[in-house]
Amino acid sequence: MVKRRKTPTVWVGKVPIGGDHPVIVQSMTNTDTADVEATVGQVWALARAGSEVVRMTVNHDEAARAVPEIKRRLLDLGVEVPLVGDFHFNGHILLRKYPGMAQALDKYRINPGTVGRGKQQDPNFRTMCEVALEFGKPVRIGVNWGSLDAELLDEMMEANAKLPEPQEAHQVTLKTIVESAVRSYEWALRYGLGEDQIILSAKVSRAPDLWWVYRELARRTPAPLHLGLTEAGMGVSGIVNSTAGLVPLLAEGIGDTIRVSITPAPGEPRTKEVEVALEILQAVGVRQFAPSVASCPGCGRTTSTFFQELAQRVSSYLSAQMPRWRSLYPGVENLKVAVMGCVVNGPGESKHADIGISLPGTGEAPRAPVYIDGQLATTLKGDRIAEEFIAMVEEYIQKRYGPKPA
Ligand code: SF4
Repeated sequence: MVKRRKTPTVWVGKVPIGGDHPVIVQSMTNTDTADVEATVGQVWALARAGSEVVRMTVNHDEAARAVPEIKRRLLDLGVEVPLVGDFHFNGHILLRKYPGMAQALDKYRINPGTVGRGKQQDPNFRTMCEVALEFGKPVRIGVNWGSLDAELLDEMMEANAKLPEPQEAHQVTLKTIVESAVRSYEWALRYGLGEDQIILSAKVSRAPDLWWVYRELARRTPAPLHLGLTEAGMGVSGIVNSTAGLVPLLAEGIGDTIRVSITPAPGEPRTKEVEVALEILQAVGVRQFAPSVASCPGCGRTTSTFFQELAQRVSSYLSAQMPRWRSLYPGVENLKVAVMGCVVNGPGESKHADIGISLPGTGEAPRAPVYIDGQLATTLKGDRIAEEFIAMVEEYIQKRYGPKPA
């Protein structure tokens, strides 16, 4: 079990972040926030996929005006997921101008690099902290290297240039990212926010940079940390980059909430980022969200596609049932199912699972032994192996996780 870094707990709506609480999954909408219907639909989908906090951009008057209505409609639908407003450039204006929006949001994201320049930076940042204080909301101070505070970067570059052995510009940039987050954290405390109201993040787009930045943040502040790469990329590369970025930190106990910022392919649902985030947490053993299906990769011993189809069918079936099962069968997320391709590792792996099936490999007798709790329960044959195995899984779940007779 991973030992988490100790932090204060920050409540975002009814969701606790940090402290001894589980690592929380976040996501962000890509709809126009002013389009209430589209945004409500996407927040609903993200929450249903497992996102426990959802962020949306609040970038102009129409978006700010839409927020209370979005919140109201979601509550009408029974969706209580906390909503975070993502502010850049004009957040200090919008938060003051639209108190209904400031009240409806459960957290404000402040980017120190976009709150204003020169003399305006500090008062704008201060205004956002004061609104948070007034409405009793937490903030996430989120530095991003794509919008890093230019003045602070100049200051750090100049100081570096005067060193007898100056560091490379890239390393100075990483140091500036951390410095911006730490300084902003201290300012927010000075402006009255408590340690239980501030979450920090500092996003970069390469995994090794992320490790360095977050280890520094964890060393220099007690704040709960929001982990994620900014611009992780698309498809397999986006998933691998995100996994490489998050896993070492999570394994060290760093990170209290995560977001996977992958670019969806055209037509791909926005919920993909939530799916990946859940899988990452589950793979590291930090949280368990859904039953796991162990399946072998297949090889020359199983040349038919039947075993791949069964593994896919079982996985899809379990995922599709989870929204209903979560409340019906408490603990079902811990179920372990095995779907294996032949007798080499099939029976062994099946015995380690709660319920497992070992399909016949090429040339093997057309029989599929099923193991339940480590014991051979039955051997399936014929054309309906898939249906019969899925029915056995369902029966196992009902018996093990369903209500017990009084
Ligand atoms: S269990 Fe059998 S089919 Fe699956 S990878 Fe191992 S040897 Fe190949």
